Amino acid sequence: MFERFDRPVRCKDGHLFTTIWVPFASAKALRLVDHRFQRCPVGHHWTSVWPLDPSTADPADLARAGEVHDIHIP
Ligand SMILES: [Zn+2]
Repeated sequence: MFERFDRPVRCKDGHLFTTIWVPFASAKALRLVDHRFQRCPVGHHWTSVWPLDPSTADPADLARAGEVHDIHIP
């Protein structure tokens, strides 16, 4: 059974949203594990995003990130 890896993330411009984040998906991605380049659904731009750590991030930031997902599940 495939498990989803939803993670709250923050883009370079400070936008908060949730995306699918699969850590260690491949050896090639290892060196990019701390951030990655992808489309931001809040600012509608390509940017670098960093995952938020739920144990240390501001709860308000996590709540805002949870309101926007880059993939809309029906
Ligand atoms: Zn953004």
